Amino acid sequence: MDIYSHPTFDMALRQFELVADYLAIPEGERAWIKYPKRALTVACPVRMDDGSTRVFAGYRVQHHFALGPTKGGLRYHPEVTLGEVAALALWMSWKCALVGLPFGGAKGGISVDPGALSPGELERLTRRYTQELAAFIGPQTDIPAPDVGTNEQTMAWIMDTYSSYAGHPVPAVVTGKPVHLGGSLGRREATGRGVAYLAGRAMDTLGLETPGATAVVQGFGNVGAVAAQSLVKQGFHVIAVSDVHGGLHHPQGLDLRKLEAWFAQHRTLVGFPEAEPISNADLLTLPCAVLVPAAMERQITAENAGKLRCRVLAEGANGPTTPEADLILNQRGDVFVVPDILCNAGGVVVSYFEWVQDLQSFFWSEGEVMDKLFRSLESAFQNTLSLARKQHLPLRTAALSLGIKRVWEAKKSRGLFP
Ligand code: GLU
Repeated sequence: MDIYSHPTFDMALRQFELVADYLAIPEGERAWIKYPKRALTVACPVRMDDGSTRVFAGYRVQHHFALGPTKGGLRYHPEVTLGEVAALALWMSWKCALVGLPFGGAKGGISVDPGALSPGELERLTRRYTQELAAFIGPQTDIPAPDVGTNEQTMAWIMDTYSSYAGHPVPAVVTGKPVHLGGSLGRREATGRGVAYLAGRAMDTLGLETPGATAVVQGFGNVGAVAAQSLVKQGFHVIAVSDVHGGLHHPQGLDLRKLEAWFAQHRTLVGFPEAEPISNADLLTLPCAVLVPAAMERQITAENAGKLRCRVLAEGANGPTTPEADLILNQRGDVFVVPDILCNAGGVVVSYFEWVQDLQSFFWSEGEVMDKLFRSLESAFQNTLSLARKQHLPLRTAALSLGIKRVWEAKKSRGLFP
């Protein structure tokens, strides 16, 4: 299965092997558990605004169907490859299993810079991709959601294209839709709020006070921006944030309201007058209580892991820490890592609530959604922490063990094929 070969896929496999050793999964069963069930590559020809035609490569990887339909986001980014999407699908499986959702993992992607396309071009690309995938997705098959570079509008286009194909409205084919189209209250904020909630729980566990503590957030997309806001609501001073163009630092704490207004107007943090610019490397190594990587994979590496000066590493992104960095952090022992599949699970938890609400055509209040979200994250946090303590495991190994074990058991009970 070397079609998936990519540094991020290799990283997911290394994590798997470590946990498979710990769980004593027989060698002969490992390939069956780790490789994706299905991967689709599609060519998406799009008529561009200038009259030319461009073809974009699109992917969807569905990891396993042992527990239910597959679930996971759709990413628009120039560096998307089949291997990266496959790694992200594996992480979705283990994340869903860790928080007890009846889903296998999936992920999709299109290799494109969404910022370089007009809204019309993006719509045509999204509809073409959906058309190509129509036979492979569906409320009981595979349910996409937003990820890096996609949003509620993308989901609305997918829902509409799929519904035209089905001949009737099918809101449950995607989650993260606009609320007026059957989206769930609280879905957009769910990932960031969950990250902040678990960062706070990590502080409690370490016996540290949250009010007045400092936080640093890498990434200012849907996850990073909402996490920063929620951290401030919990009493943290967010002293640095960054987006793809650059970072900002203010030792007394950034004024997030002003910063958001600036970002809304300029589409970048860069140039905000009430803070100093800071490089990505310096941002990650600032002294702080909580560091939230909420951008891309492989940001905390063997190079910088020894230099981190945070007490809590709350992983908003998927796969932000490499296995080499994990070894260093484990040896150091002074950084409390809330691993990605736990820390950013709030998004898919509320996606599950959205899917359930759509299937029942019965919608919940935001309070009800949030209450169920925090209860679900709290229980996953407790389960992970207690396994880690009992078995003297790093939190990542504990979280992955809980997720991978559930997938393994489901597969064993059902048989070879799902
Ligand atoms: N893209 C998000 C993630 O990585 C959400 C997936 C979903 O809601 O299905 O967890």
